Amino acid sequence: MTTTEAVPATRSFEADVAKLLHLMVHSVYSDKDVFLRELISNAADACEKLRYEGLSNPNLLGEDGQPRITLTLDPEARQLIVEDNGIGMSEAEMSEALGTIARSGTKAFMEKIAGAKDAEGSQLIGQFGVGFYSAFMVADRVDAVSRRAGADIAAIWSSDGLGTYTIQTADIAEAPPRGTRVLLHLKEDAASYTQGFTIERTIKAQSGHVPVPIFLRDKPDAEPKQIADGAALWTKPKAEITSEEYTDFYRSAAGQFDDPALTLHYRAEGLHEYTVLAFVPETKPFDLFDPDRAGRMKLYVRRVFITDEAQILPRYLRFVRGLVDSSDLPLNVSREMIQESPVLAAIQKGVANRILSELDKLSSSDSERYLKIWGNFGAVLKEGLYEDLARRETLLALARFRTTASGGDWRSLKDYVAGLKENQTAIYYATGPDLDRLASSPQLEGFRARGIEVLLLTDQVDSFWVTGVDYDGKPFKSVTQGLADLSLIPLPEGEQPAPAASDAVDGFIAFVKATLGDAVSDVRASERLTESAVCLVAPEHGMDRQLEKLLAGAGRLDAAAKPVLEINPRHALIAKLSDAGEDNAALREDAAHLLFDEARIADGELPLDPRAFSARLTRLLERGLG
Ligand code: ADP
Ligand code: MG
Repeated sequence: MTTTEAVPATRSFEADVAKLLHLMVHSVYSDKDVFLRELISNAADACEKLRYEGLSNPNLLGEDGQPRITLTLDPEARQLIVEDNGIGMSEAEMSEALGTIARSGTKAFMEKIAGAKDAEGSQLIGQFGVGFYSAFMVADRVDAVSRRAGADIAAIWSSDGLGTYTIQTADIAEAPPRGTRVLLHLKEDAASYTQGFTIERTIKAQSGHVPVPIFLRDKPDAEPKQIADGAALWTKPKAEITSEEYTDFYRSAAGQFDDPALTLHYRAEGLHEYTVLAFVPETKPFDLFDPDRAGRMKLYVRRVFITDEAQILPRYLRFVRGLVDSSDLPLNVSREMIQESPVLAAIQKGVANRILSELDKLSSSDSERYLKIWGNFGAVLKEGLYEDLARRETLLALARFRTTASGGDWRSLKDYVAGLKENQTAIYYATGPDLDRLASSPQLEGFRARGIEVLLLTDQVDSFWVTGVDYDGKPFKSVTQGLADLSLIPLPEGEQPAPAASDAVDGFIAFVKATLGDAVSDVRASERLTESAVCLVAPEHGMDRQLEKLLAGAGRLDAAAKPVLEINPRHALIAKLSDAGEDNAALREDAAHLLFDEARIADGELPLDPRAFSARLTRLLERGLG
């Protein structure tokens, strides 16, 4: 390529890009085909952007209104060219787009590989794709010449991927009339990407359904042959689409590698007409909990791509991928105006309702598949329980839980309510990050003894939605919150209620309370403990303990409420300590602190004062040895 500047300015990649490129260059990942998917997807995006800008500025399209992607192979020179006649890039846009990392997916990727070894990193490349830079998996030099639609200058970007790149003005005669030409100087071991059948097979598998036709030239001077028609799959009748075609489309449109767990394709008719093609992935996308992650539903108007930022679905459905193609929205509406359009509001409502009702249907028609979806995305769907009050009932019906009675399976609230015990007026739950620890937490003992089922909630979001939600007229109540009210619920037949605490135990409890002072808000005899000696609970109107920890951890709470220490009056150790009398004052004092620390540890916390804790434990052990 000849240029008008003699010595191009050399620029350094942003640090993160350099790191990413290092991974690409040294990639040992065997499935390098993803680079092609990434380049095609960029080329298709560029064509769609032009189609959109051309609506308000038809001059941009000039003589050539047909978007197209052309691949040219040159086995002799070991080169692969991916060219589009899309929107193109100006010099400034090039240095912005091909020198930095802007998009959040790539950022998330960088965070994920920060701790990973090189080999793992290259596995991740396969999963993520990671855009334009993945070209360096197969090329030791990449030149991109681009001419923005309507511009009479062109620029060329060039790099060997080793830390620097150059951008300079390109000879207009050698640039594409419009759009971008990416030339890959392939590495020796990537020569197979100059074989027509390899490319054709890869394109069909990965990018067969991009909405722009793709042409292939086997040799630089060969006639281009069409290998993908660029027809919009969603406009075809359902009966004419195979499940492979849906899967291919899903993979290329969503950039996923899995199969869709649910495919939804329908045409809404009536007041508003639009087509929906939506997929629920089979695996969790990596950035599901990235705060920047927006929805992944694209908006088309009569097959013209308008935006992927229309927020068609509520946030708690952000795992759904796909598109809506509206027949009613005006084509020349600006992206900003779309947000306010009543047509969009109707679409938003209709699509969200339909997806939830399809999930509901699936839960009875194929519960195994449904539970897989719930296992992946339940934590996200539950955000809707406090964000979308209008659909709360629907979401509660979709929710599944692990419980003390489910033996590791999922249970619905309908199941739970069907198993309520006599006089049970609440749905009990316990929250904590770890299912096993939760299932064995002392607060559950009294519930177990009475056969009361307790929901085991392990997602962060659980602490937030449970407050203020009712199901079937029953509030949700934390087992760590307030008095347990268990005495109203009868024990299984044949079991006797525990006798009331003796005076000596009452005295000991008062002593513990005096000893712990400010560290607790109360010390009292427990109804909920049957095996353990102690546990911590929240005061009657206090926050659930787990929620409190989350808020405190996020710096959103100034002072946590002091917990209540509950003591099991029927426990042998407590009975002995109660009878130990005044002679053992020092021992009883150590015991009071140690019991409190024991309860903290059972809650996953540290002893209040780890040094004092060790000293007390040591004293006790020494004493035990005589
Ligand atoms: P992403 O496509 O997710 O934004 P990429 O790394 O694939 O990330 O591309 C980075 C940016 O480079 C794109 O957002 C786009 O602005 C620009 N770009 C890449 N390829 C092309 C192309 N063929 N035509 C126009 N712009 C492109
Ligand atoms: Mg891209």
